[in-house]
Amino acid sequence: MTIDIKLHKTDLPDDLQLGNVIAVDGEFMGLNVRRDPLCLIQISSGNSDAHIIQLDRDSYNAPNLVKILSDPAISKIFHFGRADISYIKHYLKTDTNNIFDTKIASKLARSYSDNHSLKTLIKEFINIDVSKQFQNSDFGGELTPAQLKYCANDVIYLHKIHDELVKILKRENRIELYKDCLKFLKTRVDLDLALFKDDIWSH
Ligand code: MN
Repeated sequence: MTIDIKLHKTDLPDDLQLGNVIAVDGEFMGLNVRRDPLCLIQISSGNSDAHIIQLDRDSYNAPNLVKILSDPAISKIFHFGRADISYIKHYLKTDTNNIFDTKIASKLARSYSDNHSLKTLIKEFINIDVSKQFQNSDFGGELTPAQLKYCANDVIYLHKIHDELVKILKRENRIELYKDCLKFLKTRVDLDLALFKDDIWSH
């Protein structure tokens, strides 16, 4: 499969039409939202394209991107959106509306497995082995072609994976449970940002 990778500085171009269901991922300098800046947002329309936005880390001024993320008419598929949406809220100062999540869907659909990594889902549903070699790499500077390809891989398969997981969820009568979990995701992000990291339901 040929992937059409486009690198954009600071924001998406004006009037780019990406459709009503997009896949979204982000890359950060680390896993502490206050310490580690958001560097990149990747978006795919599901047609083997990847738009990689290299954010301006002084201003985080990206109005076209923010408009799409906040638009309730555009669905966004994440894999573990809990992290990405926290960084988006902290750095881009916007809620992300209308969310799907392949990791949550996988945990509910694939109770036959305890591995819900994106790499595992790509292998199971697309039958491709992707390298996660660049998962822990420096996304803060100039990006190498290998890093760009890694970033693209994180979004180009999410539409297909989500479709397949939804089929299982419907078959197993777990689709309403999935939808209810998605409703809580915004609150889970707000709890994270308020430093309530633990499961507040546990005894
Ligand atoms: Mn990623």
